Amino acid sequence: MHTDIEQVLLTPEQIQAKVTELGRQISVDYKGKDLLAVGILKGAAIFFADLIRAIQIPAQMDFIAISSYGASSLSTGVHKIIKDLDQSITGQHVLLVEDIVDSGLTLRFLRDYLAQREAASVKTCVLLDKLSRRQIEVSVDYRGFSIPDEFVVGYGLDYSEKYRNLPYLGILRRDIYE
Ligand code: 5GP
Repeated sequence: MHTDIEQVLLTPEQIQAKVTELGRQISVDYKGKDLLAVGILKGAAIFFADLIRAIQIPAQMDFIAISSYGASSLSTGVHKIIKDLDQSITGQHVLLVEDIVDSGLTLRFLRDYLAQREAASVKTCVLLDKLSRRQIEVSVDYRGFSIPDEFVVGYGLDYSEKYRNLPYLGILRRDIYE
C-alpha cells in the first residue's frame, strides 16, 4: 500500500493533535446539551472513532450511509440513503461527522435531510476540506484541515475500498486512478 502513496500529507501525530483540539472545542460548545454525533459511513468511521473519544461530555453515536452514483473518485451529488439513523433525532443537537468535503454536495444533501427531522440543531464537523473545489455552499462548523486539490487516501478514506487502514493521510499516485 505504502508504495502507492506519492506523499504523506498528514502524519498520525498531526491528525491526533487536530482531533484532540476539535474534541475539546466541541465539548465546550455543547456542554449541557444533548449531543448526538452522526458518522457518515464508511469514510468517516476512523475519524469518528477518534473524535468521539476526544469529546469530554456525554455524547450519543449513530451512523448514516449513502451511496452516490458515478465515477468512483468523484462525487456526482446524486445520493441514496443506504443506512438510515437508528433513532429519532427530535430535540437533539446533531453533529454530522464527515471525512472530507469536496464539491459540498454530499454534506449539503445530508444536512438538509437531517434538518427536516426536527432536530434542535444540525452542525457539521469535517476533518478535511478542499475549499477550492466547492460547487455549492455548505457551512462547515468544525474544520480539521484545509487541503489542496489532490486525491487523498488513508485514515478511513479509500480508493476502490483500498487504503482505508493506512494510519496517515497520503496523496495517491495519479497512475493508480488515471
Ligand atoms: P463532495 O460531495 O463534497 O463532492 O464529496 C464528498 C465525498 O467525495 C467524500 O465523502 C468522499 O467519499 C469523496 N472524496 C472527495 N475527495 C476525496 C479524496 O480526496 N479522497 C477520497 N478518498 N475521497 C474523496
